[in-house]
Amino acid sequence: AARPSSGAGGEAEAEGPSPGTAMLRHLLLKLRATGPVTVAEYMREALTNPGQGYYTRRGGIGDSGDFVTSPEISQVFGELIGIWYISEWIAAGKPKAFQLVELGPGRGTLADDVLRVFSQLASLLSKCDVSIHLVEVSPKLSEIQALMLTGGKAQSNPEDQSAYMKGISKTGIPIFWYRDIQDVPPGYSFYLAHEFFDALPIHKFQRTEKGWREVLVDIDPEVPDQLRFVLSPSSTPATENFIQPEETRDHVEVCPEAGVIIQRLACRIEKDGGAALVADYGHDGTGTDTFRGFRNHKLHDVLRAPGTADLTADVDFGYLRKMTQGRTTTLGPIKQREFLKNMGIDLRLQVLLQNSHDSATRKQLLHSYDMLMNPKKMGDRFNFFALLPRHRLAHPDKKHKPESKSPLLPVAGFDELLLK
Ligand code: SAH
Repeated sequence: AARPSSGAGGEAEAEGPSPGTAMLRHLLLKLRATGPVTVAEYMREALTNPGQGYYTRRGGIGDSGDFVTSPEISQVFGELIGIWYISEWIAAGKPKAFQLVELGPGRGTLADDVLRVFSQLASLLSKCDVSIHLVEVSPKLSEIQALMLTGGKAQSNPEDQSAYMKGISKTGIPIFWYRDIQDVPPGYSFYLAHEFFDALPIHKFQRTEKGWREVLVDIDPEVPDQLRFVLSPSSTPATENFIQPEETRDHVEVCPEAGVIIQRLACRIEKDGGAALVADYGHDGTGTDTFRGFRNHKLHDVLRAPGTADLTADVDFGYLRKMTQGRTTTLGPIKQREFLKNMGIDLRLQVLLQNSHDSATRKQLLHSYDMLMNPKKMGDRFNFFALLPRHRLAHPDKKHKPESKSPLLPVAGFDELLLK
């Protein structure tokens, strides 16, 4: 249940001349040719440039990489998320088919744990047509996902699909890979985004005496081959479009790509049904300067050696909620420790402890529980946020049939799970 050391990073460093230098050279050329770029443009290049981006080449998730995520710490995390989808599927009246769509699946660990729950509940799902759809831009990580989920038996560029790769899970469920959520076929879908939105490019703005200015990345004229932040000399289209007149903060980060994606999810859920679960670190519209880098589990200067470190910014859940434009109901954000507690993590831990007979495994179980739940570790830092069809939490019958007393099923995780 507790993960042994794992990782997908590091080794790319050994391929050819230092990739960090190649990305820096590419950016210096670009900046010399066109002048300073927005932080969003810099972040997009550093993370997902098709040749040298961090996720494209390195994507170092796990103990031996640059950062560790909850699914990599304990299988219990993904199992409880799998149960959340089953619970919503039951609340929706057990539709005959659903797609599980994961955005940014990393090493595929979370999807693997969710799939195991689906397979354990096979008798419940036996009449349901389930398929998995992964949205992943990194060729390196999609290979790792294919290995994890299909045992390496995935086919590239299938002719009949909008997907760039397809395969069959170890438990017999079809899996498809796409670069963009727009390529995923429509249909009743459950969406999952764990530590995905924080990797999307942000714009940064600073309040000055002359009004709002966008923060840009430029070449430092004093130090050769070094980058620095500068402020735009005047307002840019982004300052006009993204800063609200009532804004009270002095420094603001906005992630328009996150807004576009959450809007797409809300439209799809409104039209075809389903639910979305988003888990990430973040705030509710109060955060300021949260842009940071991680390399080998240590904070890393965001402007140093681009392409060799993970760059991230806190997710603004208030902005995500606003961008759903009321097409769906939203729940949360609530703290990870509350969500997992409501999902029954304590009971699951007790069962695993009772079933493990060596002290090393028990110690590892308690350690991973502490990592996920301790408020000073991931317990308070990570949040859960959900999109649900509007009728999920409203009584449509009430007006016409006031005598109807059928109680609405509570949403697992956001309420205590009813174990029947
Ligand atoms: N969910 C995983 C991995 C998080 S890292 C976990 O929690 O362990 C972020 C993931 O998002 C990686 O798989 C990365 O390659 C992917 N990613 C980053 N930007 C993306 C984009 N614009 N579109 C699709 N995937 C992206």
